[in-house]
Amino acid sequence: MSMSQLARSIVDSPTLRLNEQARLLREKGQPVIHLGIGEPKNKAPITAILSSAAKLSTGDIKYTPTDGIPSLKKAIIQYTEDNYNRCVAPENIIVTSGAKQSIYNLLFAIIEPQDEVIILAPYWVSYPEMVKMVYGVPVIVRPEDGSFYPRMEDIREAASSYTKAIILNSPNNPSGVIYPADFIAEIVEFCETKGIYLIMDDIYHKLVFDGNIAVPGYAFTKKDIENTKVIVVNGVSKLYGMTGFRIGWVIANRPLVEVMTNIQAQITSNPAILLQAAAEGALTGMQSVVENLRLTMENNRNVIVQELKTLRHLRVVEPEGTFYCMPDFRAYLRASSAKNSVELSNFLLKKALVVTVPGKEFGMEGYLRLSYAGSVKDIKTGIERMRWALDPESPKEIYIGDRKLIRDWL
Ligand code: PMP
Repeated sequence: MSMSQLARSIVDSPTLRLNEQARLLREKGQPVIHLGIGEPKNKAPITAILSSAAKLSTGDIKYTPTDGIPSLKKAIIQYTEDNYNRCVAPENIIVTSGAKQSIYNLLFAIIEPQDEVIILAPYWVSYPEMVKMVYGVPVIVRPEDGSFYPRMEDIREAASSYTKAIILNSPNNPSGVIYPADFIAEIVEFCETKGIYLIMDDIYHKLVFDGNIAVPGYAFTKKDIENTKVIVVNGVSKLYGMTGFRIGWVIANRPLVEVMTNIQAQITSNPAILLQAAAEGALTGMQSVVENLRLTMENNRNVIVQELKTLRHLRVVEPEGTFYCMPDFRAYLRASSAKNSVELSNFLLKKALVVTVPGKEFGMEGYLRLSYAGSVKDIKTGIERMRWALDPESPKEIYIGDRKLIRDWL
């Protein structure tokens, strides 16, 4: 079978692969604890369901305008005014099948072969692969001090005449940190001055804790939407717990939205009407659903941080938002005879039936990403099992499901 070099160079999505492994183990009756998956457990907002069901019951389920139905765009315009203090026109918005497709469409629209895109580590796994898929070159910038906060001087150094865009995700998947407002101010100014697109992936922007806020890039530019280099990507997957509905959007200048619309027209035609109706229902319905989810995640964050403190050699940066946390497990690699985070993650799945995602996938070897989007019980049990598997001073015996296991490797 012949396949293109580019296609062969694209790695699979580790999180989706882990989900599949966990599903298969569960199907075999194994009591797997999932600290890998990035989706909240809540039911979809009732307003989303009703809006979608109302559309379905008309039986009139057809193509829509490529860039999204006008009523959803109206809801997104309102959302942008309420949350970003920006007035945008329908022509500044394209609705896509998830924020993932938003980012891909956007990169497709702006990248020439060999153009560079700066990605800040730790980063969401899909950014580098998507950049490669449009023949661009991902340029990874790592905080030198091992913190999760990028430094402007490193970004300046990484920028070249080929730099077309910088992708920024705050609060950040996988670290959970929020980038400080003065950093956002500096990077906006840098991008506006240099003519580099600043792609703000705001998919978690309201899942923030302890009274923190994720300051939008728009706050630091006086340029209007047609002239600013700041582009916003958002969607309903995370804030409304609607991962399965696959609706996201981009806010950008009109010519860019027009080009992205042409691209989308040739690929998917449009996002499915029932899902657009659901997103509209979520955006126009009671926004307390978002606050409830935020409160649940803040509580879960407190629980996981508390539990992780019982693993004595772990370094944990307390997440300020999202539903992820990325502790430094390097001190435990030897205990498990793992050489790296992939082996450690496999070890924990095999021995303790706990799913984690290796830090390597996010550009941080030696770390594991843990999701606390699940239940408090799962978080507590998952960390207890990890402690048992890794810490020689923890009790040798544990019950996993109804099986008593005795640790014989430490
Ligand atoms: N950006 C980030 C940082 C994400 O974590 C995710 C989902 N894991 C997405 C974008 C994609 O979201 P969607 O479900 O809307 O495609």
